[in-house]
Amino acid sequence: MPVHRITQLGFVNAYFVEEEDGLTLIDTMLPRAHKKILAAAASLGAPIKRIVLTHAHGDHIGSLDALAAALPEAEVLISAREARFLAKDMSLDPDEPQVKLRGGYPGAKTRPTRTIAPGERVDSLEVYAAPGHTPGQLAFLDTRDRTLYAADTYSTLGGVATTAKPNPRFPLPAMATWHRPTALETARAMRALDPARLAPGHGGVVEAPGAAMDRAIARGA
Ligand SMILES: [Zn+2]
Repeated sequence: MPVHRITQLGFVNAYFVEEEDGLTLIDTMLPRAHKKILAAAASLGAPIKRIVLTHAHGDHIGSLDALAAALPEAEVLISAREARFLAKDMSLDPDEPQVKLRGGYPGAKTRPTRTIAPGERVDSLEVYAAPGHTPGQLAFLDTRDRTLYAADTYSTLGGVATTAKPNPRFPLPAMATWHRPTALETARAMRALDPARLAPGHGGVVEAPGAAMDRAIARGA
């Protein structure tokens, strides 16, 4: 499957995944990206059927409200854990590491049409738990070609890196990471999926990323 990456300001990504009935949009970038996203869908000649959010940081949900207004028929999917952040409930659960949340959680007016959980599918995408960067982050594996939509488990800007430890060339995703030991554990779990292609929240798409992911895990430990 072709990977359709849309970028904003050179460092924020969203993706379209092609399905039989139209497009699944993964993440919505910062505010004011909706026109760019809608234009990209129009150029593909397919409707946006679903908006899937990996996590509730502002550079992933920023244009959600504008898109939901423009696409009233589209489903909006997010994990139940991250849906709380969308609604500005910033509480931690007793069984979670009691460390400070990092990064911006601006919240949104839009509520999910339903929540999704690890083990489920969103059409061609398998849903995986990817906690650490945020408590309820999800990643998505396209089972047709093993493209991993990795959210902020890895970034590839300035080289493939986990978000468990700041990459000096692009520290932002790691600086916004909530619990680094969990993020590193998740980076290992993503590697174990043996993706053919790594499509991160920040940076370009990397083909055959296994060795680079191994090095990133070793550096992140
Ligand atoms: Zn993030």
